Amino acid sequence: MIEYKRHLVTAALPYANGPLHVGHLCGAYLPADIYVRFQRLMGKDIILICGSDEHGAAITMRAIKENKTPQEIIDTYHELFVKTFKGIGISFDYYHRTSDPLHHKTSQDFFMNLYNKGEFKEIESEQYYDVKSQQFLADRYIVGTCPKCGNENAYGDQCENCGSSLSPTELINPKSVLSGDAPELRKTKHWYLPLDTYESWLRPWLEQGILDGKEHHDPSSWKNHVLGQCKSWIDGGLQPRAMTRDLDWGVDVPHEIPGSKGKKLYVWLDAPIGYISSTIQWAKENNKDWKSYWQDPESELIHFIGKDNIVFHCIIFPAILKAHGQYNLPSNVPANQFMNLEGNKISTSRNWAVWVHEYLEDLPGMEDSLRYYLIKNMPEQKDSEFTWKTFQEAHNNELVNNLSNFIHRVLSLTHKYYKGKIPDFDPDESFEGVSGDELGGFHDAELIYLFDQIHELNQHLREYDFRSALKSLMDISTAGNQLLQNNEPWKIQKSNPETVEVVMNLSLHYVVALSIAMKPFLPFTSDKLQKMLNLPLLKENGELLDALDKIAEGEFLIAAGHQINEAEYLFSRIDDALIQKQIDKLHKPMEKENTASAEPNPDSKYHPVKETISYDDFAKIDLRTAKILTAEKVAKADKLLKLELDLGFEKRTVVSGIAQHYAPEEIIGKQVIILANLAPRPLKGIESNGMILMAEDAEGKLNFVQADEISKLGSIVK
Ligand SMILES: [Zn+2]
Repeated sequence: MIEYKRHLVTAALPYANGPLHVGHLCGAYLPADIYVRFQRLMGKDIILICGSDEHGAAITMRAIKENKTPQEIIDTYHELFVKTFKGIGISFDYYHRTSDPLHHKTSQDFFMNLYNKGEFKEIESEQYYDVKSQQFLADRYIVGTCPKCGNENAYGDQCENCGSSLSPTELINPKSVLSGDAPELRKTKHWYLPLDTYESWLRPWLEQGILDGKEHHDPSSWKNHVLGQCKSWIDGGLQPRAMTRDLDWGVDVPHEIPGSKGKKLYVWLDAPIGYISSTIQWAKENNKDWKSYWQDPESELIHFIGKDNIVFHCIIFPAILKAHGQYNLPSNVPANQFMNLEGNKISTSRNWAVWVHEYLEDLPGMEDSLRYYLIKNMPEQKDSEFTWKTFQEAHNNELVNNLSNFIHRVLSLTHKYYKGKIPDFDPDESFEGVSGDELGGFHDAELIYLFDQIHELNQHLREYDFRSALKSLMDISTAGNQLLQNNEPWKIQKSNPETVEVVMNLSLHYVVALSIAMKPFLPFTSDKLQKMLNLPLLKENGELLDALDKIAEGEFLIAAGHQINEAEYLFSRIDDALIQKQIDKLHKPMEKENTASAEPNPDSKYHPVKETISYDDFAKIDLRTAKILTAEKVAKADKLLKLELDLGFEKRTVVSGIAQHYAPEEIIGKQVIILANLAPRPLKGIESNGMILMAEDAEGKLNFVQADEISKLGSIVK
C-alpha cells in the first residue's frame, strides 16, 4: 500500500434543490465522516471537504415551479444542509457553496487554463430553442412523449417512468417548459472535452492503476461495481463531451473567450471544481497551503460518492484534472450503492423518504442511533434496506443491551466499590480469575485483544468496509461484557478484592478504548462518555494512536486513582409507539395520494371528496363559458371527439373523451364550461387546448355542465 504524507477527502456536493434523506447520508457523508475522523484520531494529516452544488437547470426548474428566484431556492437548501450536517455530526473541515464568487473565479480560471492549452474542441450542433422566451433549452426544459414507453411527461434527458436516458431530439411532440410551445432546432457552438482521445491513459489508469508509466494506486482496492461501471463506459466508446451549456443560471464562460455570451460552464465541470474552491477557502481561513493537498504527488485524493456519480468522478473529473496537468488524480472512489426504504425505492417526488432534518426534530438526542443503523446497513457492495422495525431492533439489542449496559455496569460498579476512583493493581503480578483465566500483567491477553481489535478496525476502514469496522467496535463491548460475566466481580468482591481490582481495571480499559474508538461512528456518545469518565473531549488529534502506543508500552490508558463522574445510561430503549409514529408518518402522504386518485368505492354512491386546497389554488383555474361549433369522431380512437369551441374572444380545438356518451350531432350548439388554462397536450396527433367540464357519477355516467343560455361566451366562471 502506498503511504501518503497527507490526505484530501471529498464527499459528493449535495444538489441544492431538495433536503437530505437517509440514502444520501449513508451513500457519501457518513462513510467520509467516519473515515476522516478515524484517520484524525490516528494522527494523520487529513481534511474533509464539501459544499452545496448550486447550479444547473434543475435549480431554475424548481424556482419556476415554486414561483421563487433560483437564489431563494439555493439559499433555502444551503442553510438546511449546513444545519442538517451539523445536527447529524458530519465533521467537514470546510463546507462551501458553488454560488460563492471565489468558486466562480476558480472554475473560470480552470476553464481558461484548458482553453489556452487548446484542450477543447469547438463543435457546432443543433439544439432546441424556444422562440417565445428567446433561449436555448437545457434538456430538463424540454418535455415530450417518451419514444420507449409513451409517457407524455418525459424530460429531454430522461424518462422517469421507464428510466430510459434520452436526448431531447428523441422526444415525440417536444415542448418547452417555459412557454409550452414546440421548440425549434437552431445552431449553437460549445466547447467539448475530447474524452475519446483520453482512452489511452484512462484505461491503464483505471484497470491497472498505472498513470504516466508509474504505479498510481492499487486497482484491487477499488470496488468491483465502480470499476465495472467505468469499464462499461470506456468499452461503449468515449465521446467528446460538451463542457458548456446555453443556460441562464451558472458560472459564466469567461468573457474574454469569443462567443462566450449567454454560455455557462457545464454543471459537471463546475461542481467538482467546487472541491478545489472549498479547499482554497479552508486554506485561506486556516493559514494553510491548499496546493499541497491537490498538487503534491505525496497527497492522496479520495472521493466519497453514491453510485449515480461514478462516471463523473472516475472518468470526467479525472479527465479535467489530467488535462490541466498539475493536479493529483483520485487514488480511490469508494462509491456506495443505494438504500431502499420499507420495500420501495426512496422517492423525493412521492415523499417516500426519511428526511434527516425531520428525524433530528422528531427524535432529538438520537443522532447516533441513526448513524449506527445506517453504518450497520450501509449499501457498500449492493443496495440495502431501511426499515423502522430493524432500526428499533438494532438500537435496543445492540446499543442498549450490549454497549450501554456494559458501560453503565462498569462505571456504576466503580462507584460502588471504589467511590468512582480507578482501582490500581500491580501489572507485573498475575491473578487467577474466577473462570480460571490468568489475569494481570500488562501484556495480558485482554489488552493484546484490545490492541489487535483496534488494528483490525483500522484495516477494515482502510478497505472502506464500514460494516465490518462497526462490528469490530461492537465486539470490544461484547468481549468486555464477557470479561465481567466470566469473573462475576459482584460475587467475589468481599472474598477476593484483589482479583476484582484487576477485573475492574481491565474493564475500565475496555470502556476507555471504546470511548476513543467509537468517536468516528458515534461521536455524540463518545463525547457523553468522555464526560462521564471525567476526561477531556477528543479533539481528533492523534488520541487513538497515543492510546495504542500506551497499550504497546504497557502504560495505563486511564490513571489509577482518577476520579470519574456519575454513571448514566448512554442509550435507553425505543418503544413500539415511537416506531409506529414514524411508520404512520411515512405512509401518510402515500395514502392521501391514493385516496385523491382512487377508483370509486364500490360500496358508495359517491366519489370521496379530494384533499382540501387553498383559495389560491382555486384562483389559478380559469373556467370560461363556450359554445360547441363542430364535433367529429377522432380516427382510431373510440372514446374521443374533436370539438371546435367558440369562447367569444377566440375559437379553439379541444379533444374530449365523451364519444361513448354522446354522438357528435347531438352536442353541436351546446353551451358548456371549459377549463381554459390547462396546458395544451397532444391526443392522437391533435393538439387539445383545454378541457370541457363534465359531471361524472359513481357509475361513470357523464353529463355536460351547461352554462346558462343567456350568459355571454367567454365569461369567467367562479
Ligand atoms: Zn419512458
